Amino acid sequence: LDFLAETDPAIATIIQQELQRQRDHLELIASENFTSAAVMAAQGSVLTNKYAEGLPGKRYYGGCEFVDHAEAIAIDRAKQLFGAAHANVQPHSGAQANFAVFLSLLEPGDTIMGMDLSHGGHLTHGSPVNVSGKWFKAQHYGVSAETEQLDYDQIRDLALQHRPKLLICGYSAYPRVIQFDKFRAIADEVGAYLLADVAHIAGLIATGHHPSPIPYCDVVTTTTHKTLRGPRGGLILTRDADLGKKLDKAVFPGSQGGPLEHVIAAKAVAFGEALKPEFKAYSGQVIENARALAAQLQARGLKTVSGGTDNHLMLVDLRSISMTGKLADQLVSGINITANKNTVPFDPESPFVTSGLRLGSPAMTTRGMGQAEFTEIGSIIADRLLSPDDAAVTQDCRQRVAQLCSRFPLYPHLSVPVPA
Ligand code: PLP
Repeated sequence: LDFLAETDPAIATIIQQELQRQRDHLELIASENFTSAAVMAAQGSVLTNKYAEGLPGKRYYGGCEFVDHAEAIAIDRAKQLFGAAHANVQPHSGAQANFAVFLSLLEPGDTIMGMDLSHGGHLTHGSPVNVSGKWFKAQHYGVSAETEQLDYDQIRDLALQHRPKLLICGYSAYPRVIQFDKFRAIADEVGAYLLADVAHIAGLIATGHHPSPIPYCDVVTTTTHKTLRGPRGGLILTRDADLGKKLDKAVFPGSQGGPLEHVIAAKAVAFGEALKPEFKAYSGQVIENARALAAQLQARGLKTVSGGTDNHLMLVDLRSISMTGKLADQLVSGINITANKNTVPFDPESPFVTSGLRLGSPAMTTRGMGQAEFTEIGSIIADRLLSPDDAAVTQDCRQRVAQLCSRFPLYPHLSVPVPA
């Protein structure tokens, strides 16, 4: 990084500013985390220079003997971590992983069925603005209006009505356990492939804190940078080795060119970390912390969708205090808390305004915080949202955030030189 300050002061300054921002803020975006220094070292390495189209041992370029090893280690560790027969570690992102699945299993015009975006689904599960909604006939299920949780009878009825070729489970804003066996039964009844996109809960699954989709789903996709705490990227897993070969082809040459071997090496490092007992303890703490935060918010009269959480995230339903997600996002942002506005099920507001605030525990758990700190975070958020116009409360909240941040330093050994 010394080189960078000399050769490109503009970018070096921005990296320094971003490091400071990450240090000074409570990061509660449910899809974010802080990777280890080892992951960043692998990602910022000479492996970025290497073209390696193809798979380990079967490349279209020379000089791949070392990246082959890194990719083989990443594949082996991913298989071990999730108990899968086959892994492809090349997708550049979660969206790319999903696209490769569509390319291998579907023809344009086929019907797919996933959760509605506004109930917690992802754009790549059939949204009209995404290729998944443009090229396929997308049908959607939502959560039950009463429980705000998955209603498997309702999903079965919709699947029987629409007969999707691909049924998708796995979400971006769903705080409860997903019963993959029930999805399997529905998929079997209608003759659909079953895809679990576990981008959010992969780290919980890898450590046994959420049931595994591998025994029940034809394909499992995930990102590697959320609860799994690796570099930004995607991963495809399957228990079916033949389908695995088809998926490999759909990634390359189907939808991507050269794999990012520096990112793949960083994925290998992250998977290695996730196989250690410390990561299992970390993942358990992520859930305990989310529960503590949800409990405190509820104790202060703020409603959470479905009444709580079983995983790393929760959605605060702000309709009961007549506030929009947009305003809540701005209010917490003003006291150095980073979160995101989010639709709640049956949201009367537009996706740009929303009635919800999504909060997650993975990143601040990585910084070492436990239930006591998450209870304090819940109090700070409640104080801010319940007294939006009180300057003294705002000042007090800011100080309490600063205290928490200073007690749990982020990357204490990392310094980015600022240009003179
Ligand atoms: N799938 C789900 C369920 C997600 O939540 C996300 C990202 O938030 C993705 C896929 C897409 O991942 P990426 O942003 O890496 O493309």
